[in-house]
Amino acid sequence: MQNREKPAQEAPVSEKREETTCCIVGAGPAGAILALLLARKGVEVTLLEEHMDFERDFRGDTVHPSTMEILEQLGLAERLLQLEHTKAPVLAFQTPRGNPIAVDFRHLHTPYPYITLIPQARFLEFITREASHYPTFHLAMGARAERLIEEDGYIHGVQYRGHDGWHELRAILTVGADGRFSRVRKLAGFEPVKSSVPMDVLWFRLPHEANDTQRDGFILGPGHFLVQLNRGDTWQLGYIILKGSYQQVKAAGLPHFREEIARLVPAFKERLETITEWKQISVLSVESSRVPRWYKPGLLLIGDAAHVMTPVGGVGINYAIQDAVAAANLLTEDLKAGKVRTENLARVQKRREPPTRKIQAFQNIAQRRVARILHTEQAQIIPPAIALLLRLPFLRNWQANLIAFGPRPERVRNP
Ligand SMILES: Cc1cc2nc3c(=O)[nH]c(=O)nc-3n(C[C@H](O)[C@H](O)[C@H](O)COP(=O)(O)OP(=O)(O)OC[C@H]3O[C@@H](n4cnc5c(N)ncnc54)[C@H](O)[C@@H]3O)c2cc1C
Repeated sequence: MQNREKPAQEAPVSEKREETTCCIVGAGPAGAILALLLARKGVEVTLLEEHMDFERDFRGDTVHPSTMEILEQLGLAERLLQLEHTKAPVLAFQTPRGNPIAVDFRHLHTPYPYITLIPQARFLEFITREASHYPTFHLAMGARAERLIEEDGYIHGVQYRGHDGWHELRAILTVGADGRFSRVRKLAGFEPVKSSVPMDVLWFRLPHEANDTQRDGFILGPGHFLVQLNRGDTWQLGYIILKGSYQQVKAAGLPHFREEIARLVPAFKERLETITEWKQISVLSVESSRVPRWYKPGLLLIGDAAHVMTPVGGVGINYAIQDAVAAANLLTEDLKAGKVRTENLARVQKRREPPTRKIQAFQNIAQRRVARILHTEQAQIIPPAIALLLRLPFLRNWQANLIAFGPRPERVRNP
């Protein structure tokens, strides 16, 4: 992954001065949902996005039941499901010794017992289009926040660079929802604490064929772990490798890479010939981190800016959205009153940090198991005791529930 930080600039003279109540930096899932929730309540909100569009591939495309229920509260779930998507009601482990069910969402008590797979770009377009129906919502695309306006220990907004020059945007609350490389976090002086993760992921796509019988889930072989998701006209594949070993994989050559995948999924053998260049493969440097403090007077961090999740369970988008819901629930009244109390910013962290810690701990355990598989050369990949446990309905449902909703699902207050 490339680091997108640019060298610091001299303090700009902002040509345009603007005011809002809440300035949100970053129109990812966290920022877009928070903007929508605040605009619905009549709070003036300006959402800044450095890119000109939402196009991005191999990002969080997994919308979990927790998010679908939030959208249902807002009357948006059925409309979202009208967009092109696929559903994964079961994620199966496929091993050389059979297919114990891994995660089965079908028995959950929810109208949405599946993971909805939808390109994040379409999801963000949908949310911001909904938000644009409210007169208090303002979206600035191609607007890169570069500086915080700090006076007397209080953050009063940002200076951002748009295509027409520098702007100064003053706000009662500034929210850093600008993702894993958050500039707002850096400018505020917060340093994330990272935990070591043993793996990286190589994401790529292969064509889907009408008579394919493969299932969504995980394909395991001695020393290999492949994630396989049906995306309609393509298969999205994630080949898990040991942390930092991409150069080794690359040095072994594309023919070797194709052979390894074909050994795991023989049905893909011919289709793998469509992978002819390394640039068709996107490397995700997997990270897990959390900032010790998510706020300071006038400023709050949410989503990946506050905590980077690994891809285990595909929870990243969903935790970002739950942070947004908690922030809207706890801060709307203050924003309407024109003053955000720092103790209420602290309440957002207090509410969202424990579930984040718990799910990161769960991800750590899962990652250690995956690393063990990457190191093993035995055909017996899942110990029989674990395979048996995965079949117990109680445990199966507990695991599905944890991934689908997390330890503390959020609900929109007064939707
Ligand atoms: C390759 C990859 C695969 C992933 N797969 C999954 C998955 O399958 N399921 C899942 O749930 N999660 C997945 N994730 C994680 C998921 O994408 C994130 O957890 C989620 O998008 C976080 O949302 P966010 O709104 O906090 O941040 P982001 O989605 O990162 O959004 C931040 C936004 O801020 C903008 N921005 C950044 N800096 C500035 C600035 N200075 N000024 C203005 N705008 C700025 C960015 O352009 C971006 O649009 C994946 C991540 C990656 C990298």
